[in-house]
Amino acid sequence: MNLGRLEVICDSPPLKIVEACARLSDLLLPMDRPWHHFRRNTGRQACQYCRRAPLLQQYDIEYTTGRTISYFIGQCRHCGAIYWLPKEETGKTS
Ligand SMILES: [Zn+2]
Repeated sequence: MNLGRLEVICDSPPLKIVEACARLSDLLLPMDRPWHHFRRNTGRQACQYCRRAPLLQQYDIEYTTGRTISYFIGQCRHCGAIYWLPKEETGKTS
């Protein structure tokens, strides 16, 4: 059953990323939590709900095409909101 998740979460990463993260033990109920792009560049580096800074970790998502894309993903331990940021947008190189 499709509850229209993507209609209410417009700030979320590609669905494949959310699905991949659903298999991680690091994140609590990622399919049921709001996802937000972590706007490092605007200075909004804390959770928008409770103003606590989420701890972002790097995850490498490997696509079936063989391409690997790295994301920083972190969950606010206070309210459960999940923040994500493609590594390429951080300006860091590996
Ligand atoms: Zn929070």
